Amino acid sequence: VPARNTLLLSLALGWAEIVGAADIFLGVNAVDYSGYPDCRPEFIRTFENLARLATKAGVEGSHFQIRAPLIDMSKADIIRKGTELGVDFAMTVSCYQAGPDGAACGKCDSCRLRAAGFAAAHMPDPTRYAR
Ligand SMILES: [Zn+2]
Repeated sequence: VPARNTLLLSLALGWAEIVGAADIFLGVNAVDYSGYPDCRPEFIRTFENLARLATKAGVEGSHFQIRAPLIDMSKADIIRKGTELGVDFAMTVSCYQAGPDGAACGKCDSCRLRAAGFAAAHMPDPTRYAR
């Protein structure tokens, strides 16, 4: 999805200013850098600068911070941390081409990265895949 994180961060930034929040959390990950340049740390730092210039709160001295706690974790580590925190991965889908019933394709980059992460974590992937 081109510029997805740019779009989502813009919406989050507008909302953050309305509610007076200074921290915005984003689930980007280093494994995705090659296909999605707006997952890179340089992009996140640059967006923070934009936030300072593009908002009333920023111009008045507030400092928005984009927090990306998963950025340097492996997919397996993210899965293990999620499991530790009680995430029900059966309720999640990573696919960019999921069917109308929400079933993942199992073939796209995102599905393959997810499957590799669960394999590396030695855990079964409970998401629904198309047959
Ligand atoms: Zn897929």
